[in-house]
Amino acid sequence: MTQAAPTGHDATAADGAGTVLALRDVCVAYGRVQAVRSVSLDVPAGRALCVVGPNGAGKTSLVRAVAGLERVSGGEVRWRGEPLGRQSVTKRIAAGIVYVPEGTQVFGGMTVEENLAVPLIATRRPIASDTFAKVYAAFPILERRATQDAGTLSGGENRMLAVARALVLEPGLLIVDEPSLGLSPQATATLAAALRALAEGGQTVLVSEQNLACATAVGGDACLMVRGEIRWRGPNADLAGVEPVRAAVLGQGLS
Ligand code: ATP
Repeated sequence: MTQAAPTGHDATAADGAGTVLALRDVCVAYGRVQAVRSVSLDVPAGRALCVVGPNGAGKTSLVRAVAGLERVSGGEVRWRGEPLGRQSVTKRIAAGIVYVPEGTQVFGGMTVEENLAVPLIATRRPIASDTFAKVYAAFPILERRATQDAGTLSGGENRMLAVARALVLEPGLLIVDEPSLGLSPQATATLAAALRALAEGGQTVLVSEQNLACATAVGGDACLMVRGEIRWRGPNADLAGVEPVRAAVLGQGLS
């Protein structure tokens, strides 16, 4: 169901039913640049929500603020009903908020499986024989590449590994920043389908994306961000057919 942009909430407003992450009047500023302007947003549990918008809209700033990588200069981020305040990235990861940055972040000189083990070692979690079964089910190609150096992976496999490495932490919220960046349409479609399947299996997913084909393929809901503000929210079924989205994103020559 299409709904009006949920801006201007009272910062003390109750989180919606089924909401796992609630943003209330969140602002992010870099000096005098207001990248995120009073954004209020509910992210429902066990679904995908894509923040779409043109270059410089503030999408990355918004999701990085949720991950604790940018300081919130106003408003509040609540996770499972509790304000996150200035909580560190490490504490947010422990609480279940795991962020996959845009671009390539895997360790090229280590095998795929060694890459998957890194977050578990870093957070002192056990590694058992079936530890990677769930991520291999989500990304079967990674199981076939398990003993291969990550540096030899294709761009799409590389990005899958970055997402899989976040998944081994069994996040309550998986945040993926610009999953399509630098990928071919085919690799983008494969990754988007995997994200969709994860959400359909009950994983809460928050995606920042300017490629409408990718965002549409992820499914769930979408919201349009323009100049730091949420302008529209609705189902993700056919974003290219939604007039405000067309005007903001396709007008930039993006697909
Ligand atoms: P893109 O898709 O191009 O990454 P975006 O929607 O993710 O865009 P942001 O990267 O969040 O947008 O940028 C929002 C605004 O904040 C832009 O005007 C950008 O120039 C500015 N900005 C982002 N990071 C910084 C920074 N570290 N210092 C200063 N300004 C920044």
